[in-house]
Amino acid sequence: MYINGEWINLDRRFDVNNPATGELIGQVSDGDQRHAQQAIDAADKAFLEWKQTTAYQRAAILERAHGLMLERKTELAELMTTEQGKPLKAAANEVQYAADFLKWFAEEAKRNYGQTIPSARPDQRFMVRYEPVGVVAAITPWNYPISMLTRKIAPALAAGCTVVLKPAEMTPLCALAVFEILHESGVPRGVVNLVTAANPVPIGEAFCSNSKVKKLTFTGSTMVGKNLASAAAFNLKRVSMELGGHAPFIVFDDADPMHAAKGVSLVKFLNTGQACISPNRIFVQRNIIKDFLDTLIKRVGALKVGHGMDPANHMGPLINHAALDKVDKQVVDAINQGAQLLAGGARLTEDGLDKGHFYAPTVLTDVSERMLIYREETFGPVAAVIPFDTQKQVIEMANDTHYGLAAYIYTQNLSRAMRVFEALNFGIIGINDINPTSAAAPFGGMNQSGLGREGASEGMMEYLETKLGGLSV
Ligand code: NAD
Repeated sequence: MYINGEWINLDRRFDVNNPATGELIGQVSDGDQRHAQQAIDAADKAFLEWKQTTAYQRAAILERAHGLMLERKTELAELMTTEQGKPLKAAANEVQYAADFLKWFAEEAKRNYGQTIPSARPDQRFMVRYEPVGVVAAITPWNYPISMLTRKIAPALAAGCTVVLKPAEMTPLCALAVFEILHESGVPRGVVNLVTAANPVPIGEAFCSNSKVKKLTFTGSTMVGKNLASAAAFNLKRVSMELGGHAPFIVFDDADPMHAAKGVSLVKFLNTGQACISPNRIFVQRNIIKDFLDTLIKRVGALKVGHGMDPANHMGPLINHAALDKVDKQVVDAINQGAQLLAGGARLTEDGLDKGHFYAPTVLTDVSERMLIYREETFGPVAAVIPFDTQKQVIEMANDTHYGLAAYIYTQNLSRAMRVFEALNFGIIGINDINPTSAAAPFGGMNQSGLGREGASEGMMEYLETKLGGLSV
C-alpha cells in the first residue's frame, strides 16, 4: 500500500493469480478500515498545501507521470496481461489510453477559468471561482486496471484535490505500478494514497462515512454503485458513478453488412467482452441478417483464443470462475428459450487452457426479450444477434433497458443517423464507429449506468466546487 508517501507492507496479504494459468503472481497487503482512515487523514492534511499549488506545478507533475508511463509502456502491458489476461497489444493500447488522461488533465489544469457575471445592480460585481472539492475517495474495477485509475486521479490532482484509491482485488499489482509512477513523478506526500484489500466492504464503508471525504468516485457494477451512492448520500458527499451497460448495436439495411459485422467482431470480443461499452444486443435489420451473420461467423472462427502473452492470440481469458459461470448460464438460458447457437457456446479447456478461465467466442441469433442475455450485462464473449424490421421498432427495443451507457448505429443515411442518435437514451453513441472514446471526450452513462462524466473538460468539473463572490463596489 502507499499511505502518506510511504510504502507499507503488511504481514497479512492476499494472493493475486494469473487468470490464464491460475498461477500465483503476487501477494499484496490486505488492508482494513484502519488503513483507509490513515490514508484519509493523510489526504486531508496534504490537501491544505496541495490546493495552494499553482495549476502549472500540478500540471508539471502530471506531465512527468505521463512521460514515465509511456517509457514503461511495455513492462506495464506485460504486467497487465499477466494479472488481467487481455492480449499484450490490447494492454499496450490501454496503457496509452491511461497516459492520455495524465496529459489531457495536465493541460486542463491550466484552463480552470472562472467567470464574471453581470449584475442588475450598478454597484455590484459577481465573480465565480471553481475550487477543489477536497479529499476524493476512488474505487476502481479490474477490467481496465490502469486507465480507470488515471481517469480519476489525473482530473482530481489537476483540480487540486487529494486522493485515496482502492483498486479491485483482482488487479492490485497494476495499481501499485501506477502509484510507483506517481511517487517518482514527485507527487507530494499524502496527495495520493493507495489502500489494497481483499474485502472491499469495510474500505467502502470508511469512504462513505468519514466526513473528511468530500467526494466518492466509483467505477464498477450498478448494484455496488447504487449501494455506495446511497451510503454516501446520507453524508451528502458528491458522487460520480461509472456503472454497467447493456449496449445496443444497431445495423440498418442501408449499411454495409460486412463492414458492420467486422466492427462487431472487433469490438464485441475486445477484452473478452469485459467492457462496460461492449455491445450486448446486436440488432440487425432482417433483410441483411444473413450476409451479416456469414461475415461475423467467419471472423469469429478466425479469432485465436489463448494466453495474452502470445502475440498470435486475439482473445484472452475471463477474469475468474464466476465470470465463466455467468456467461455459460446466459448462453444455456438463451438456447433453452429458442436462440440458435452459430459459434462457440462452451468453455475452452484443450491445448493447455484448462487452468485458465477461457470461453469460446460465441454467436447466438434469434435472441429475444425473454432471455437473460437480453437484459443482464454479459461481460463475456457472446454476440447476441436480434433481427428487427423497422426503425421505430428498433429504437424502442434499444431503449428498453435500465442501462444507458453506450450504443452503436450503422447506417449510410445521414438523416437516419441523426434521428436515431437523438432518439437513443445513451451517453456515448458510435455512428459507424466502434471506438467513440478518447481522453478528450466525455465518457459516462444515463439512467442506471451512472452519474457524471469522466475525461474531457467535464471530467475536471467533477472535482471542483463552485464559489460565488458578490462584491459591492
Ligand atoms: P464490482 O462492482 O464488483 O467491483 C468494482 C470495484 O468495487 C472493485 O474495486 C471492488 O473491490 C469494489 N467493491 C465491490 N463491492 C464493494 C462494496 N460493497 N463496497 C465497496 N467497494 C466494493 O464490479 P467489477 O466486476 O469489478 O467490474 C465490472 C463492472 O464495472 C461492470 O458492470 C462494468 O460495466 C463496470 N464498468 C463500468 C465502467 C464505466 O466507465 N461505466 C468502466 C469499467 C467497468
